[in-house]
Amino acid sequence: MKYISTRGKAEALGFDDVLLSGLARDGGLYVPDAWPKVSQAEIAEFSGLPYAELALRVIRPFVGGTIDDGALAGIIDEAYSRFDSPDVAPVKDIGNNEYLMEMFHGPTLAFKDMAMQFLGPVFDHVLKTRGETVTIIGATSGDTGSAAIEACRGRDAIEIFMLHPHGRVSDVQRRQMTTVSDANVHNIAIEGTFDDCQDLVKAMFNDEPLRDRLRFSAVNSINWARIMAQTVYYFFAASKVHALGETKGPVSFAVPTGNFGNVFAGYGASRMGLDVDQFVVGSNSNDILTRFFESGSMALGEVHPTISPSMDIQISSNFERLLFDLLDRDGDRVRAVMEEFRETGKFSVANKALETAQALFYGACFDDGATKQTIREVYEATGELLDPHSAVGLAAARAQRRDSRVPMIALATAHPAKFPDAVQDATGVRPTLPDRMAGLMEGEERCDVLANDFEAVRAYVSDHARSGQ
Ligand SMILES: *Cc1c(COP(=O)(O)O)cnc(C)c1O
Repeated sequence: MKYISTRGKAEALGFDDVLLSGLARDGGLYVPDAWPKVSQAEIAEFSGLPYAELALRVIRPFVGGTIDDGALAGIIDEAYSRFDSPDVAPVKDIGNNEYLMEMFHGPTLAFKDMAMQFLGPVFDHVLKTRGETVTIIGATSGDTGSAAIEACRGRDAIEIFMLHPHGRVSDVQRRQMTTVSDANVHNIAIEGTFDDCQDLVKAMFNDEPLRDRLRFSAVNSINWARIMAQTVYYFFAASKVHALGETKGPVSFAVPTGNFGNVFAGYGASRMGLDVDQFVVGSNSNDILTRFFESGSMALGEVHPTISPSMDIQISSNFERLLFDLLDRDGDRVRAVMEEFRETGKFSVANKALETAQALFYGACFDDGATKQTIREVYEATGELLDPHSAVGLAAARAQRRDSRVPMIALATAHPAKFPDAVQDATGVRPTLPDRMAGLMEGEERCDVLANDFEAVRAYVSDHARSGQ
């Protein structure tokens, strides 16, 4: 299996190189040169398989022999051993042929763990096989940072530096990062905004001597291995729903969306052979994707802060991967469109491409009031507490469902206790953290506060990285 860039110019790479390189050299994103196919007979066999076994079957063709089967099985077993549900991502029937897939049973209580817990051991394995080390550097507004730190902590081949905006992440989010005591984990609170943190990370990557000396790498949502690991749970959910309802046939998914990584993985599963009727893309007031799926035009607006902050995004970086398919895998056209977008803040696709997208994708957006109303309605009808992101997804499912005979699976992407204020506001009930997180609010914190200053951050990283010594 080879991976090619969506912008058509970068060299095709194998899985291990794509894993470590992140972005392609031509500025594009890597995608498989052809989607591996899973036959209907194989999909039928998925029913009843434990999550890790199903993951091995789905992931193996993507890895294309760069990791041997025994090692890959070990990596996957390790990845999914830290979830507090035997199903990893349990699926619940909530009535009316609607289902919730709970994706928050990992160490940091959000769906990012589903891919990050795999990324940690697979990075470690590939690096050790090659005798290399990397320095991972990233910026976070909350969920990604803790998921990345949990995935990388204590791994010899990886040093991780995570920048967050000082005083601008929630106590739970900050403590999930700063109470990790492993020596390879470095938390930096920047006196600035999330955008300042991101700019600092970009500037570090652009400092070539530093980048090469410390071997910078990224685990952000454009990393192909994250998408790959996320295709698994679409197959898993469909097999669970079929088993619960003793049915066969197509299913639909509703996905609360920010960077488009999660729902793109679902699209990948459908390209591999999973029978999917609809993908409903849920957005909060940052509705750029809803507008695209209605009109075929992507037009940048301003970022509005909402109660579902992990979706407060205007540019959905993984959308480029779908665009590549919509434009008949023509890298030159993708490059031209993305350049236009960068220069003018907008682009449009032709009717044919829009119709292809609309056959599968449906968008819907909800403001904070509507999101809270959904949290309240679901609580009153079923007793389930939804976090605001999950509520946006379910609201979108209900608004855009075209056939009630097709099971609708809404992805619950965060534990309600990660966003307790919004949930309490909506229902009067304050969700509590799971018992296993009991020590979180007491543990000792490790974090250094730095000015929003490139030289200060550069010096800090250079002094604290082992691989630079
Ligand atoms: C990251 C995140 C999302 C958005 O996922 P994308 O893959 O960026 O579309 C949704 N909900 C939660 C809780 C998240 O952390």
